[in-house]
Amino acid sequence: MKLLEGKNVIITGASRGIGKGIAETFAEHGANVAFTYSSSEGPALQLEEELKAKGVNAKAYKSNAASFTESADLVSKVLEDFGGIDVLINNAGITKDNLLMRMAEEDFDTVIEINLKSVFNMTKAVQRTLLKQRKGSIINMSSVVGVKGNAGQTNYAASKAGMIGFTKSVALELGSRNIRCNAIAPGFIETEMTAKLDEKVVQGWREGIPLKRGGTTEDIANACLFLASDLSAYVTGQVLNVDGGMLT
Ligand code: NAP
Repeated sequence: MKLLEGKNVIITGASRGIGKGIAETFAEHGANVAFTYSSSEGPALQLEEELKAKGVNAKAYKSNAASFTESADLVSKVLEDFGGIDVLINNAGITKDNLLMRMAEEDFDTVIEINLKSVFNMTKAVQRTLLKQRKGSIINMSSVVGVKGNAGQTNYAASKAGMIGFTKSVALELGSRNIRCNAIAPGFIETEMTAKLDEKVVQGWREGIPLKRGGTTEDIANACLFLASDLSAYVTGQVLNVDGGMLT
């Protein structure tokens, strides 16, 4: 059964990693996919073709999620190109890790702007459209680090915890119009973001995960599929941990 037949979806940061996995799964479920990238033009255009080959409408847009005006322009273009928006996935994110002692102000600000301010930018930009149709699902890609903190990631943890507060507040503001807003807190997912980590540290994490493995992009995409589709019609304001039991 295709769960998102004919739905129009925007995913930020889908040129690789988790965003790409979500785009592929959603296209297999019949969704038309508008997605963004920051600098990976080649992989983004390749993904656009791959998605179209699945028989859906798809388009890659270069857009900086940290920019309020670029986000507003993006949403206008997507409305022109796709004719509507049903689901927004705020997935774009970066890390700039360091101990607080060594963290530069710029590295704190950049992570907050790309990971958290972006969620405000994009949610505000789609809000009017979702309100008019009295239906919509917004999914924010937080992290276990936003729930429990992590040494060396004060900037990242603050951004991901901020997303959770934002998610719950939007759920309260827009619930009466049948617009749902949930967050996903992935654990350790094997992508380019985590490939930068020391293998010894990673091995230690894997051993500490009750399911004894790192997560895949499909694991996160399937959770997004649930939250985007009517299967979760009565779920809002929640944080879904997809972490192999890491936070248990
Ligand atoms: P990734 O492989 O590094 O991919 C990041 C994506 O975000 C890329 O498509 C990148 O585009 C895009 N991006 C970066 N800055 C952007 C900007 N300013 N505007 C628009 N797009 C931008 O990361 P990932 O592992 O897939 O992570 C995806 C999300 O899941 C992030 O929010 C991350 O914090 C969260 N998460 C990941 C893990 C994990 O273990 N991997 C765990 C918890 C949460 P370019 O390719 O053009 O640079």
